Amino acid sequence: MEAIVSLAKRRGFVFPSSEIYGGLNGFFDYGPLGAELKKNIRDCWWNDMVRRRDDVVGLESSIIMHPKVWEASGHVAGFTDPLVDCKVSKQRYRADQLFFSPVVVDGKVAGYVSALESENTAGELQTLAETFKRKKAIQGALAPVVAKDMTEAKPEEIALIPSPATGEPGSLTPPRAFNMMFETYVGALRDASSVSYLRPETAQGMFVDFKNVVDTGRVKLPFGIAQIGKSFRNEITPRNFIFRSREFEQMEMEYFISEDADWAKAHEDWISWCETWLKSIGLPASHLSRYAHPKEKLAFYSKGTVDIMFQYPFGVQELWGIAARGNYDLTQHANASGKPMEYFDEASKKKFVPHVIEPAVGVDRIFLAVLCAGYAEEEVKDEKGAVEKRTVLRLSPRIAPVKVAVLPLLKNKEQLVAVAQKLYAKLKRKYAVFYDESGAVGRRYRRQDEIGTPWCVTIDFDTVEKDGTFTLRERDSMQQKRITEAELFALLDEQVY
Ligand code: ATP
Repeated sequence: MEAIVSLAKRRGFVFPSSEIYGGLNGFFDYGPLGAELKKNIRDCWWNDMVRRRDDVVGLESSIIMHPKVWEASGHVAGFTDPLVDCKVSKQRYRADQLFFSPVVVDGKVAGYVSALESENTAGELQTLAETFKRKKAIQGALAPVVAKDMTEAKPEEIALIPSPATGEPGSLTPPRAFNMMFETYVGALRDASSVSYLRPETAQGMFVDFKNVVDTGRVKLPFGIAQIGKSFRNEITPRNFIFRSREFEQMEMEYFISEDADWAKAHEDWISWCETWLKSIGLPASHLSRYAHPKEKLAFYSKGTVDIMFQYPFGVQELWGIAARGNYDLTQHANASGKPMEYFDEASKKKFVPHVIEPAVGVDRIFLAVLCAGYAEEEVKDEKGAVEKRTVLRLSPRIAPVKVAVLPLLKNKEQLVAVAQKLYAKLKRKYAVFYDESGAVGRRYRRQDEIGTPWCVTIDFDTVEKDGTFTLRERDSMQQKRITEAELFALLDEQVY
């Protein structure tokens, strides 16, 4: 992770927000290359999800919506995470990320240890338990630790569990619900009547506008409404770089189906659509897996949720959630607003509230996944055969911020520069291209490798003196071949879509 975060900063992908003021925890800026990469992820999704399908339409709803939206959706009452305070250090923890275990020696509880969730929480607790036993000079056999999180702590245990900040027991509070919605005030009055929220998800826009889209969009069931936009959650512990932040971007789609449609099939179809799409932007199948939420942990209205998980360097984590939500959301809004949300089906002449399948994914999590999957440090041979290290980002041509770099072999040869500039201008009309004439060609290749540019073309003396072909150098194989301008455009046309 450290190498990836450092590359992201060094090459202008991601900066901490407001860095000159010390940064703001949970907020990030996307630099010149990051903005391109992010836009490409969004564009690929929009093209595949909306433009290239006949059954999905787009939407851009407002970020601040009527506060009643969030009452009806259940967010005001229930969009909470369990929070634990340390009264001494003033640190706050998500209760489900703070783990503890009794230290059991010869069958008796000698004390407690605690640790924040990590890739090896149980291992850390075990080490802490051994240290505890040694420091207190307790004799006897230490039992293996049993890791539980703070939401599972019994009331009488809480005072005995040490705070991770101080190492001492007695300062942790029992878990309480913390609402993650950011509040603001709309209008000149700052009182309870003007409280509103920054949306914590984009999905409610699709539900609230359902009737508007049906009445104007010439849509017929089954159909989807898709949206890309910012969401805000006051996460208790933003962490793992851009994986969990407080301001992030979502790409969500609500796919409405008939009340008696085969929801399980529609659900499965969307899960595999999402997997295929992730592979189409370059994520390796080996890093993807599925996690089906156990039935007993689902909300009462939910028929099933499957998360597509990605193997990040800090563990296997949720990337994309695909939920079968029944007709809960539309029904809630119909009840709260008094406006019917029914759909009239011409074929069956029946009126009903449609059910929905919801694939919801974060752009920033995809961004991090492609950086993690694509990053490699390799030993390669330079032109003279000497071994050197190269850093390479294997980004799919679909999302790479720069598609091709145009390099004149020498910058002081006018005829090379003229041809290179002409090609650059031509390519630029269609693709994100980079022109670089400074330094040895090998060095220029390395600079492009590091930012994930799939191809470089070099204009040399053969180009101007012979047949006009260029050297095309491929990032991953580092192979070079001669190519004509028409072939170059055909290659880009096929790979960048
Ligand atoms: P988590 O369990 O990781 O908090 P969630 O189940 O609450 O996520 P959803 O409400 O299903 O997430 O949101 C849909 C998607 O939005 C997630 O799969 C994830 O890709 C993205 N997402 C959610 N919260 C964040 C966040 N704080 N930062 C970045 N992306 C997020």
